[in-house]
Amino acid sequence: MLEWQPLLNQMSEVQRQVFNAFQQSEEDAALWGNEILQERILAYNDELSTLAMGVGCQRDGRLVNPGILQGLTNQSVQDGESIVNTYNYYLAQNVLGLDVYNYEQMLPLIVTWANGYFAQRNKLINGWTENTARSQAQQDFVSRNANFYSREVPLKLQRAEMYPKTAVCPICKGWISRGSVTLNEAMKDPPPYHLQCPHYWSIEPGFAVVKNECPNLWMGE
Ligand SMILES: [Zn+2]
Repeated sequence: MLEWQPLLNQMSEVQRQVFNAFQQSEEDAALWGNEILQERILAYNDELSTLAMGVGCQRDGRLVNPGILQGLTNQSVQDGESIVNTYNYYLAQNVLGLDVYNYEQMLPLIVTWANGYFAQRNKLINGWTENTARSQAQQDFVSRNANFYSREVPLKLQRAEMYPKTAVCPICKGWISRGSVTLNEAMKDPPPYHLQCPHYWSIEPGFAVVKNECPNLWMGE
């Protein structure tokens, strides 16, 4: 956790004013958390639909399960708090670096900095939100539809492969170099493995659900 509060003690009066004008609050954290939760649910449901399609069923993901929703909510609240905390830390550092300016000179510089910060940060946040949600949807879908997965084909024929095929970090590179792995193995090690990790499992279930059983698939209930 980055500690921004101690940095306030190093600030001049003017710097403190600028920091106060631009810092984000607990209300901002709550807003972020809410926005992220909505994005998570969309990605989660979309992934459920994709997985259903993969086993031959045209079903829409419809997450209403209270336990799972609570889990996604908790993650999103934490993310919101972390976003605000990290922003306030870098804001404080930035303001401290501007000690030769007066208030009027500082403002446009901080506006420019903050815009650049969020332009870059939003990409990270969206990627993380999307990938964590999709990964969890895969875990939940496979485990809660275990009755389908376990009876249709031998487990070792159910496969997964990591995409995209390029990587910088050793964990991602390792999985990519292994090519097709068992679904079981893949589900034990869900991505993303680090911030900015674009990787996901592409699942090859190796079976299709009989059409009249599609309504029995778990889709978020
Ligand atoms: Zn990765």
